Amino acid sequence: MNPIRVVRRAVACSLILLPVTTAPSRAQTSSIAADYQAIADSLIHAATADSAAYLRLGKLVDTFGHRLSGSASLEATIAWVLREMQADGLQNVRGEPVMVPHWVRGAESADLVKPRATPLKMLGLGGSVGTPKSGITAPVLVVTSFDELSRRASEARGKIVLFDEPFTEYTATRKYRSDGPSAAARVGAVACLIRSVATASIRSPHTGQLDYDSTAGKIPAAALSVEDAMMLHRFADRGEPVVVTLRMGARTLPDAPSRNVVAEVVGREKPDEVVVLGGHIDSWDVGQGAMDDGGGAVGAWEAVRLIHRLGLRPRRTVRVVLWTNEENGGKGALAYRDAHAADLARHVLAMESDNGAFNPKGYVLAGSDSAAAVVQQVAGLMQPINATGVQRVDGSPAADITPLAEAGVATMEIDVEGSRYFWYHHSDSDTLDKLDPAELARCVAAMAVMAYAVADLPDALPHAAAP
Ligand SMILES: [Zn+2]
Repeated sequence: MNPIRVVRRAVACSLILLPVTTAPSRAQTSSIAADYQAIADSLIHAATADSAAYLRLGKLVDTFGHRLSGSASLEATIAWVLREMQADGLQNVRGEPVMVPHWVRGAESADLVKPRATPLKMLGLGGSVGTPKSGITAPVLVVTSFDELSRRASEARGKIVLFDEPFTEYTATRKYRSDGPSAAARVGAVACLIRSVATASIRSPHTGQLDYDSTAGKIPAAALSVEDAMMLHRFADRGEPVVVTLRMGARTLPDAPSRNVVAEVVGREKPDEVVVLGGHIDSWDVGQGAMDDGGGAVGAWEAVRLIHRLGLRPRRTVRVVLWTNEENGGKGALAYRDAHAADLARHVLAMESDNGAFNPKGYVLAGSDSAAAVVQQVAGLMQPINATGVQRVDGSPAADITPLAEAGVATMEIDVEGSRYFWYHHSDSDTLDKLDPAELARCVAAMAVMAYAVADLPDALPHAAAP
């Protein structure tokens, strides 16, 4: 998780979600419903009539596989998407250059040496340093929390610290992945293991970005499957010495060139005013990145393709952006902000889908009360598929639009039924079959209707704050 993502999760998960309370006037309500319900119905019908987004996502993930920043598969995917968007007839199709971190995993393993020799299911954490070729063999100190590590700091020197913290909620549990390695290094540990950040497990390890603190030494760090972390914990509880050998070939190469994918339906009256929608095109280097975030990226693309295919030309420009490097740097989000710095005041909405393209319930908005009142009316157009909810957060609802939120743009994430998200997140099991074609189609509808209506309203959606 990059720093931006940390902000996003902290915001999305720690704040109380407030239902919109600003009641729209009767005139506004009837006007948006009267002006846009027929078009909304046509977009919903077009999105849900077939499985176009799912089929395209399948083609993408089966052909190119996972897409870590710096990888050939990410750049091949981007090149293919750009060609397909041209073929779709979208306008101003382009790749906007971004330099991205280039971390490679290399060969890796973790083996229990004592009290029983057996391989463990592991994934190195993104950004980790490697071990010497012969690996690191050391006794394991099992702790449940940062507090317990502080209490037992004198026991940690020369050991591999395992944080076996059960999942509570993402923001809290993720801290062991991001901050655990440096906390362990500070008390003299030689390597760090964590229990995978997951809400369910079939012995599948889950990766994700760590965040070395510059004041601590860098030690290798990896996630164990939930089951293996629990077993090591049981050995320790029984007073049996636990010894593990960790081998990791991870290394960080020089930054590599990548691109944000951008395409548009140019507005008919106010082409310089923009509604952005998208997801991230990169993924971790495991599974297929189908859920995180292939579905969000292809879903947003499909929403814009449908607007174009139905011959709809809103007043303002609708722009799909597939950000690069969300997972381990957030450089795509920053590059988009910088490349469009002069235009951010004319960005009326930025919408993202990065919680899995599961059944949509509505929208999560970070914006002003007056923007929320309008968004609530537009959400009412989603009655046919029951996706009319509007929740509000302060800050930003999602990682790649955080720099835009900070610039005052109203930002939004698709609100989905996400109970399965952390079963698959950042693991080998993030594959196409985890998504449902009909649910993805409804996400497409939710994005298409919101993007079209907000792009077409006579008055621009109010900014969240002065940019
Ligand atoms: Zn994601």
